[in-house]
Amino acid sequence: MAFSQDFAYAKFSEFYKSSSAEIPLLASVDRREFAFLLFKDRIMVRHRSFAGMGGLKLFLSETAPSDVYHSCAYYENPKAEMDKKGWLGADLVFDIDADHIPTSCNKIHDEWTCANSMCSFSGKGVTPEVCPKCGGQKIETKTWPCEVCLNSAKEETAKLADMLENDFGFSDEEVHVFFSGHRGYHVHVENEAVRMLDAMARKEIVDYVSGLGLTILGPERKEQPKGKTASNRFFLHDFAWNKRIKQGMRKFLANAASEDLRNIGLNSKTSTAILANKEKIQKRCIDEGLWDSVREVNIKTWARIAEYVKNLESAKIDTVVTTDIHRLIRLAGSLHGKTGLKKVEFPVSRLTDFDPFKEAVAFKEGAVKVFVSGAPEFRLGEREFGPYRNKTIELPTAAAVLLICKGRAEVVK
Ligand SMILES: [Zn+2]
Ligand SMILES: [Zn+2]
Repeated sequence: MAFSQDFAYAKFSEFYKSSSAEIPLLASVDRREFAFLLFKDRIMVRHRSFAGMGGLKLFLSETAPSDVYHSCAYYENPKAEMDKKGWLGADLVFDIDADHIPTSCNKIHDEWTCANSMCSFSGKGVTPEVCPKCGGQKIETKTWPCEVCLNSAKEETAKLADMLENDFGFSDEEVHVFFSGHRGYHVHVENEAVRMLDAMARKEIVDYVSGLGLTILGPERKEQPKGKTASNRFFLHDFAWNKRIKQGMRKFLANAASEDLRNIGLNSKTSTAILANKEKIQKRCIDEGLWDSVREVNIKTWARIAEYVKNLESAKIDTVVTTDIHRLIRLAGSLHGKTGLKKVEFPVSRLTDFDPFKEAVAFKEGAVKVFVSGAPEFRLGEREFGPYRNKTIELPTAAAVLLICKGRAEVVK
């Protein structure tokens, strides 16, 4: 194993010696705290700072860390201890990770085991917050950067970016989207208006994108149109979340089958009425706000559908990351220690066609013989690999590094 670690370290080192010049410029680099996870002894080094990109790149080429992080915060003195740093503000950051999105395939490729050796309880799928058997908080995970999972993370990222631009009004240039190098996407907002927001204010933004605390069926609302009595307590205007719910309902109802309606708890009489009146619902109810147009469908039903649609339209983010004003986040252009893939930025407009398994590949040359203990089917670039179980095989460097970093393969001497 040590030999395989040395191999990964050597490859990371080659990468930073030849490509560290390509690390993109980080705004206010001299005001950031840097942290590094080192291959050697898996030590975390924190509270480092650099006067400019040059010093940072030199450090990377000399040290070749397994992971490189910087603070989303700006400090008067980034090297000082936490309470003496002098916080000057922070970027607004979001983390969308497949770990927080239940997919149909995570039961196949993700496993977790309680780290308490007296317990060692294990399961498949999304990792629980605490061990369900002993309540232990330390849980070891064995996950996989799967294409299906990454696509669902991408969909969440698209919803988030849309809210940041259309509801909050940030421009394309202020919203930076990155592939994390592992199982998700990061979104950074660099803008004067967000810099000084405290944790509470950031929590408000988190609640907004998560659709938390959104009242769908409130007491009678002021903006209700006059004379439309049955629409009394259910009314959607054309801005922000209301607009999202309208669009979501339009989409959901256009494609809904009786099973979908049953799944959200509607009885068969109501479901039948909805399915028989799809066109009328689109035109009269959603477009014109005449929610009493279909006799069998009352406002409680509309509210139930809206609530369901709200969950579809909300962005599944890791809430803790956004509210932490001292958060460390991976450096763009650096390698992820669990995959050997790069964290890369791309324009929001390219979200749909961005291909992480092509554009984040760092090692493009060479091949190496490895023993793979187990790996699911995967793709890098145009090539498909696996599944493998206890197999010795020669693989391109990028595939070998990925499997070694994931603890699923070892270099054969
Ligand atoms: Zn346990
Ligand atoms: Zn998956």
